[in-house]
Amino acid sequence: MLPRRLAAPAPGWTETTDVLVVGSGVAGLTAALYLREQGLRVTVVTKVNIDDGSTRWAQGGIAAVLDPLDTPEAHAFDTEIAGVGLCDPAAVRVLVEEGPTRVRELMRLGAAFDRNLDGSLMLGREGGHRADRIVHAGGDATGAEVQRALHEAVRRDPWIKLVEHALVLDLLRASDGRACGLTLHVLGEGSADGVGAILARAVVLATGGMGQVYASTTNPAVSTGDGVALALRAGAVVTDVEFVQFHPTSFLTASVTSVQRPLISEALRGEGAHLIDGTGKRFMVGQHELAELAPRDVVAKGIHRVLHETGADHVYLDARHLGKEFLEQRFPTIVASTRAAGVDPATELIPVAPAAHYASGGVRTDLRGRTSIPGLYACGEVACTGVHGANRLASNSLLEGLVFARRIADDIAADLPPQAEPRAARRVPAWVVTPEIRGELQRAMTRGAGVLRSADSLAATEKELARLGEQHATPDNSAWEATNLLTVATALVASASERRETRGCHWREDYPHAADEWRGHLLDAIGPKGTLTQTFEEMA
Ligand SMILES: Cc1cc2nc3c(=O)[nH]c(=O)nc-3n(C[C@H](O)[C@H](O)[C@H](O)COP(=O)(O)OP(=O)(O)OC[C@H]3O[C@@H](n4cnc5c(N)ncnc54)[C@H](O)[C@@H]3O)c2cc1C
Repeated sequence: MLPRRLAAPAPGWTETTDVLVVGSGVAGLTAALYLREQGLRVTVVTKVNIDDGSTRWAQGGIAAVLDPLDTPEAHAFDTEIAGVGLCDPAAVRVLVEEGPTRVRELMRLGAAFDRNLDGSLMLGREGGHRADRIVHAGGDATGAEVQRALHEAVRRDPWIKLVEHALVLDLLRASDGRACGLTLHVLGEGSADGVGAILARAVVLATGGMGQVYASTTNPAVSTGDGVALALRAGAVVTDVEFVQFHPTSFLTASVTSVQRPLISEALRGEGAHLIDGTGKRFMVGQHELAELAPRDVVAKGIHRVLHETGADHVYLDARHLGKEFLEQRFPTIVASTRAAGVDPATELIPVAPAAHYASGGVRTDLRGRTSIPGLYACGEVACTGVHGANRLASNSLLEGLVFARRIADDIAADLPPQAEPRAARRVPAWVVTPEIRGELQRAMTRGAGVLRSADSLAATEKELARLGEQHATPDNSAWEATNLLTVATALVASASERRETRGCHWREDYPHAADEWRGHLLDAIGPKGTLTQTFEEMA
């Protein structure tokens, strides 16, 4: 059983706004700025500081058709190949056709991308792309530049209220079921402190991913799946959560002990770095026509196979032949982080291993970002718009945030009802788990529901999660986060057990092939009594 509400004190204060945006990464800040263009009052709430989400860590760049020789059809083709039959073609068309305009708008806002000597945009290539279409900034610091430009634009607008150190808890709904605000816990000074409520005419969830359900992840500490857990508790439909992308090349060294593993972008492989095993063999050659530049799931599986066969905990990236000067100029972030840990990529091999990186699934939306609950929208990594299918193509996620933020703002502005009163809290299961389960949960997920899964490993993980779910606690921020982790982990394991095939980034040892009868989506929802259910919906 899962909670339908987080145990929390009754809200001690209430504020109102037109649109409430949760999260301050690319999705939340872009949505806020487009909503302001529509003349709406916006409040953005964010868990820690404005820049603490995944966005600022993005390295490779943003995929968009900006080269005259490239086409939206070619971008759509690559996206759908990576998604292994589960992408929604209409959503993909929206992404690739509207993407270039959204990237140009971001540049007009102030984001400065790398350029060639003739002033044209420098376009790179990444895994799964058959054309040069990745815009990047500061070499490998694209996310930092995107976050900086959006952050500054938001700070310039006095009609965007930013509330930092605010952990959103649960959705408030009006008597007709429409979303009309959120409860949250603010660690601040003054009247809006402690547990309160913000009422709004529409709510946009932009809470990012859920990498922290695993023991090893490239995601920052805030990526605890809060938006997906909140949506499940509210009764919204969540889909494709079994499709977690493991980045093949996170930096693995004994000196990296933080909750977030440094990423070695595949742009490095795009520039010619090779993956080799302990004997120096390029093991991806012959496994896929694109070798090291195959889609991420293929490369992660290739590495996993080597680790399994050799008993090692890492393979190597060899970038030495690219030269010191080129590496320092093109990949300053990677060079700095590996050198800080004692590995110089200009002269030494870089030890790497897969780590949880991206949630392809999330809160189900339509092409306007609407969830199954009227008035509740989802944008960015928390959402499942249908563009990624069973696996995300590299650099399509920043793009998705930009494209769907605009669509959401347009939809909200076109049809914004007056503020509704929240209905009285209903009697539903409400509790939280102790934060002490966090480490155990992450290790259990990595062991049984990580890169490689089977009926046995998933059954053992499910049992372990049920045991951890019995350890209730008194509510505080870390207990609320731990409960969110437990909720999304439970949904992920249930869907991964149900999907008896291997597809995209869902790899079942006991069902090693894709099966036609599984060409569709698993929809997760929590019923009134706290029971998680799955429904299978075939592709149209
Ligand atoms: C290391 C790394 C490299 C990447 N490289 C690329 C790349 O090159 N190209 C690409 O396209 N994608 C890349 N990605 C993926 C991409 O960065 C993310 O998918 C994208 O930034 C997600 O944006 P977002 O706005 O949805 O979420 P985020 O940027 O993660 O923002 C989520 C926000 O929600 C807030 N939040 C969460 N829970 C709550 C809560 N309960 N209450 C209040 N606030 C909350 C967080 O604090 C944060 O502000 C990378 C990801 C990582 C981790």
